[in-house]
Amino acid sequence: MWKLNALNSSREYAACAHTEAGNRKGTLFLCKSCAHRAHADVNAAEVLTSRG
Ligand SMILES: [Zn+2]
Repeated sequence: MWKLNALNSSREYAACAHTEAGNRKGTLFLCKSCAHRAHADVNAAEVLTSRG
């Protein structure tokens, strides 16, 4: 289940839920929708947290 929940977590932005492969550039997460930046791993953790 953990692997399933982690699917796309590195491409989805935690705050606006915009999911796009181009959001992630290496360790940098840059949302194509709202232009928010974050560390990719930090964002992914927030996505997983928000999914409960
Ligand atoms: Zn966004």
